[in-house]
Formats: sequence, structure tokens, C-alpha cells
Amino acid sequence: MEKGKQLYEGKAKKVYETNDPNLYIVSYKDDATAFNGEKKGTIADKGVVNNIMSNLVFALLAESGVPTHLVRQLSDRDTLVKAVTILPLEVIIRNTAAGSFSKRYGVEEGTPLARPALEFSYKKDELGDPLINDDHILALELATEDDLARVKQYAHKVNEVMKAFFLDKGLKLIDFKIEFGKTPDGEIILADEVSPDTCRLWDVKTNEKMDKDRFRRDLGNVEETYQAVLKRVRA
Ligand code: UDP
Repeated sequence: MEKGKQLYEGKAKKVYETNDPNLYIVSYKDDATAFNGEKKGTIADKGVVNNIMSNLVFALLAESGVPTHLVRQLSDRDTLVKAVTILPLEVIIRNTAAGSFSKRYGVEEGTPLARPALEFSYKKDELGDPLINDDHILALELATEDDLARVKQYAHKVNEVMKAFFLDKGLKLIDFKIEFGKTPDGEIILADEVSPDTCRLWDVKTNEKMDKDRFRRDLGNVEETYQAVLKRVRA
């Protein structure tokens, strides 16, 4: 499958048309941004890590009953996916307090939550992706009631499957962000990626941060950490 016209270039990926209107190619870059694009950099071979890791996790999720956009990996950085319209929502699930949740509610990072907490952000860069609730989503017609129910059901399933998967690799799943898309026939499927860019993963024994917080917070060993995560999830 060959890349056609470039449809989109985001912070971490490019998306291309193919000769099949139902299929796109995503190509993962090494560019890294944080704090709504304020901090920029590159992480050598991040694109390779995120592509391979995301595909591995998506394959596992598909087996577990969560439909995904994954068709097949084409190369280290390129993957063939189903063409979807992305819902303008970031779906976040938190198992442990961290990041903006800790700040917003005054809860120390690392505090376990009594139950997984799902939240939505409205994907709108110019507004800084504000927090949004179910009523707002329906009032703004960002998704239908059925779509929203599906998204939540899948998101919790993704959490259960990933928590167990990562724990088996010695990694604690603190929180993560996922995105869903709608196929031309109206099916809601998991899209975008699952990677150290989009998950907080802490070493089970040492609580060492093994994710993009190493870049966001200048903790060092960024490249090494991405490679270490890939090695663990592949093992
Ligand atoms: N996240 C993401 N993209 C975003 C914002 C958050 O992938 O634009 C992920 C982030 O890596 C973390 C989770 O979503 O795993 C929760 O992030 P949080 O809301 O705490 O925001 P942050 O502290 O990253 O700004």
C-alpha cells in the first residue's frame, strides 16, 4: 500500500490517503510537544516506539472486543488504518492521581483513586483542550447519546485490559488518553494511539516515571525510557 496525498500533519503523526478511500496511512514522527505546544523537542526514534507499541496494544484490545482502526503495520513508522472521522474528544481514564487532576483537585500525585475516573476534554487547541462533561458534549452535538455510551463502555474496557497487560510488564498504568473515530457506516472504533506519549506508566517497584513526563518535566533519559518501555511491552 502506497502513501497518497497528505491529509493532515499533527504534533506527532502525519496521515496520508491511500488508493482505497476507506484506508489511511499514519506515519509517526519523533517530534514531541507538551503544554499545548509551548514546549517543543524531538525524541530520537519515538515514532518507531509509539508505532510498534500502539499496534501491539491495539491488537490485544481487538482480541478483547474493542474494535480499533488498526489494519496492519507497514514499516517501523507507518501503519495502515481504517479511515475514520475523529470525535473531537480526548477520553482520559485515571487510576491514580497525577498531572492536571492532582493540580485541579489538590490531590498528591500517586494517590490511588477509589475507582477509575473517566473525563473528557474538548479537542480544540485554541482553547487549550478544556474539560467538558456529558451534557456539554450532547448540547454541542459533539457526539450522539449512543456514541457517548459506546465510548465510555470501550474506554473502561481499554483500561481493564491495559492495566493487566502493563502490570504483567512491571508497569503501573496511572492514567491515559485515547481517542475514538466513526467509520463511514457509523461504527465507533478506537483510533489515534496508545504509547508513552499518551499514557502515564510508572515502574511497579520503583515508581520511576516511564512516559512522556520525562520530557515534560526534564527528568532525563527520555530516549532510553521510550526504548525500555518498548522492550518491556514486546517481551
Ligand atoms: N494526555 C495526552 N494528551 C493530551 C493531554 C493528556 O495524551 O493532550 C494524557 C497524558 O499523557 C496523561 C493523561 O492524558 O497520561 C492525563 O493527562 P493530564 O490531564 O494529567 O494532563 P497533563 O498533566 O499531561 O497536562
